[in-house]
Amino acid sequence: MEQYQGIKFNVRFLNERVLDYPIQKELIEWGKKLSKLGCIPTYPNPENPGIISSAGNLSARIGDRFIITAAGSNLGELSNNNFVEVWDVDMSEKLIQAKGSEEPSSETMLHYSIYQKRNDVQVIFHGHNQQLLAQCSQLGLKSTKKWYPYGTLELMNSVCDMIKENDRFLIMKDHGFLSFGKTCQQAGENIIQVLSKVEKIKEI
Ligand SMILES: [Zn+2]
Repeated sequence: MEQYQGIKFNVRFLNERVLDYPIQKELIEWGKKLSKLGCIPTYPNPENPGIISSAGNLSARIGDRFIITAAGSNLGELSNNNFVEVWDVDMSEKLIQAKGSEEPSSETMLHYSIYQKRNDVQVIFHGHNQQLLAQCSQLGLKSTKKWYPYGTLELMNSVCDMIKENDRFLIMKDHGFLSFGKTCQQAGENIIQVLSKVEKIKEI
């Protein structure tokens, strides 16, 4: 997997309060479940090797904004401190205005653009699983055509060009997956369903 080098945009904090939207409870639970399912790999935090971070991010729409997990958080052990509210995004300036106490996920621009494109999507989960990538075509999964580095506008555009109304799951080529839902339950179950097919292929 590509080496994590931190976020690739600037953040301006409007305030630093800890968020406590009710949906965070569900996101915290799904973070644990997805980690146990092996689709949120962990690594030592590059700035503080004593801290474990994980590769993946969860978000949920709140009105005309959204909340997302903080960059470098461990999805298996999230707390309310690890959520950031994305207040405004300026693509041309690569500037995000946020409320919260930590920097938003490196894929915040990607989540933002998906919420812009798909009004029906309320929740987005992003994770990584090597078997899924390897078996992508056998499983008949929709995928972007080309690899782009994480956190870039190129990756964001490749995803937005590919997703159509009603798509629930997308592979980002040689990178990971995105799951879309109206609820956390739906976004999570999409992943469980796809992973269960990976198991079946293994048994054959
Ligand atoms: Zn990723």
